[in-house]
Amino acid sequence: MIGSSVVVRTRSWLVLCLGLLTVGAPAAHAADCPGHPDALGTSRTLVVDPREHPRIGTMQYRETLPLKDHEVVLTFDDGPLPKYSNQVLKMLDDECIKATFFIIGSQAKANPEGVRKLVAAGHTVGTHSMNHPLTFDRMPVEKYEPEINGGIEWTSAAMTDPSKLAPFFRIPGLMRAEGVENYLISRGIQVWSADFPADDWRHVSSDRVYQLAMQRLEAKGKGILLLHDIQARTVAALPKIIRDLKARGYRIVHVVPATADRPATPTTPVEWLLHPPTETTPIVRWPAVPNFVFTETRTLPAPALSDLNAQTEHQPLLPRRTKGQVDIASTLPVPGRDLFAIPEGSVEVLLSTTLSRLAMAAETPRADKGKAAKAKAGKPHAPRTAHAAPAAPKHAAQAKNTALKNTASRPTRVATSVKKRA
Ligand SMILES: [Zn+2]
Repeated sequence: MIGSSVVVRTRSWLVLCLGLLTVGAPAAHAADCPGHPDALGTSRTLVVDPREHPRIGTMQYRETLPLKDHEVVLTFDDGPLPKYSNQVLKMLDDECIKATFFIIGSQAKANPEGVRKLVAAGHTVGTHSMNHPLTFDRMPVEKYEPEINGGIEWTSAAMTDPSKLAPFFRIPGLMRAEGVENYLISRGIQVWSADFPADDWRHVSSDRVYQLAMQRLEAKGKGILLLHDIQARTVAALPKIIRDLKARGYRIVHVVPATADRPATPTTPVEWLLHPPTETTPIVRWPAVPNFVFTETRTLPAPALSDLNAQTEHQPLLPRRTKGQVDIASTLPVPGRDLFAIPEGSVEVLLSTTLSRLAMAAETPRADKGKAAKAKAGKPHAPRTAHAAPAAPKHAAQAKNTALKNTASRPTRVATSVKKRA
């Protein structure tokens, strides 16, 4: 391609800009990638301050990284496992892509060289616990504290320069809990969820991983992609993902933590929202814990999450129980507090009312939605499956039925916590 050869030859930012403007390059060949003129490259480095934005990733939180349209952050969990991690590393190197790796302490202990390779290649390295227990959502502090610290200790011990360790943590299986998050935040550690996974921990083909990665990225237009560098299917899918990112004009963003010498990239608060909320935005845009399980290193437990294609905007996911969720909801425009003004003990009434409203808010076309609503209208609704149990109801009537059926499970806890606060 003309644009890319110009960029590689000149190394001039001016020519880079002109080249991109001139040819309307589908991909941002922003990196000077020696020996790889068609590399995807890394278009920019984003410096973030964990203290300012402690929880990120719209799979679970209100905020996510302040990415621009068509910007992607690649993240890889559970390594290093030389057999696959080295292949992933080579592919990223060949494309001059910088990613973020969430290391398991026991893996770092077994393969310290793998951690050093990541640092040497310029990737960001955060941690992912010591042993990857999938019980962070119910562990007491005396259990999760050593898990978190063990991962940090062994990962930093593997590094030649431990200061290279980023204060970034991803909870195994995304099994979030408020206590865990608060503990991490109190230590200045940023809690990373993601904006979309590619199900590469499941028994699916590499083609499926590739398809899910691209479908979900296209649905959101930007975001943090969650992958695993310990899976053969991820290794097989990555070249196709990179090829498509390039062809569709996506740009890779490298995320690093702010330090005394490296101030955070200036941003505005609204940039930390995937899509700024409007009056018609249902609160369920920021869902709770996805009901799925990540793989351990070598064994694959049966996953509960099947397909998150349905996790586009305006499709309600049922809220879960934590106080944090209630806090988030209270900061958003709908629903109002009056939803919770119900007679004592009328849990069913509360649930059916709430769910009906949420379902209606999500499904009812609004006259004032403008372009965004029209654009969405053309998209087919993918079948909803088990990513949030119980499955999100499609219509208000179904919502009511579902609510009544499920009053003994999670939603009851939501109601209880609300009542306690009220
Ligand atoms: Zn994991």
